[in-house]
Amino acid sequence: MKARKRFGQHFLTDPHVLREIVRVVRPKAHDQLLEIGPGHGALTEHLAGTSARYLVVEIDRDLIHKLRARFTDVEVINADVLKVDFAEIWNERPWRIVGNLPYNITTPLMLRLLAEKAHIEDMHFMVQKELAQRLAATPGTKAWGRLTVLMQYHCAIDALFDVAPESFTPPPKVNSCVVRIQPRAETLPLTDPSKLDRVLRTAFSARRKRLANALADLDLPWDELAVDANARPDQLTVEEFVTLANAMEK
Ligand code: SAM
Repeated sequence: MKARKRFGQHFLTDPHVLREIVRVVRPKAHDQLLEIGPGHGALTEHLAGTSARYLVVEIDRDLIHKLRARFTDVEVINADVLKVDFAEIWNERPWRIVGNLPYNITTPLMLRLLAEKAHIEDMHFMVQKELAQRLAATPGTKAWGRLTVLMQYHCAIDALFDVAPESFTPPPKVNSCVVRIQPRAETLPLTDPSKLDRVLRTAFSARRKRLANALADLDLPWDELAVDANARPDQLTVEEFVTLANAMEK
């Protein structure tokens, strides 16, 4: 198995980990599954055939022919998932997304998929452990940051289990973790998403300051807000950040 570094190829070879992924995804007969980066099909082999539809998006042209020959019931798209036109994939039913992701595209991919969340039931991804810790972090910890708040605003996130480098060929330099990301059916009312973005950028660029100082430029009506102006930005909950974003309107 020749691995292409530029495509972040680390192929899963540990049968125990593959079984664990199937167990947590728990595919159902009527599901529509979309796998990102199937590679040689290690995960595809275990998941295809369990669901009503199975679609894969793989960037590496050299793998496409083999995938098509091996999995006749799988719809294979040769494309960069960061450029794929999801409108051509989505239908009236939600999709479940899985993937042992190339770590260099994980964050942009997640932000892209946030915009598509109306079409997504859940996502199970193998990611770098450090990123999994950030995604599932709690307020007041080092891992709590802008990406965490944004992702947790839209989704419920669970870090499910760790995976050691030896489970892959070739082994990556970092530890990995399988995460479950479920878009929330209802999110906290937010008048303007760009305001939340501004609050988060400003707050986390001064995460050790007093909140009132860190956000001085935003001109917030602190007396009217149920948020402690003396707290540090990195101690705030998602709900408190949303309160601040909505207060910028006034
Ligand atoms: N799922 C396979 C496995 O577990 O053995 C392969 C996982 S490997 C970490 C990542 C896979 O994603 C590779 O097959 C790589 O070619 C593919 N890939 C990398 N960048 C991609 C992109 N932008 N769009 C689609 N696939 C990509």
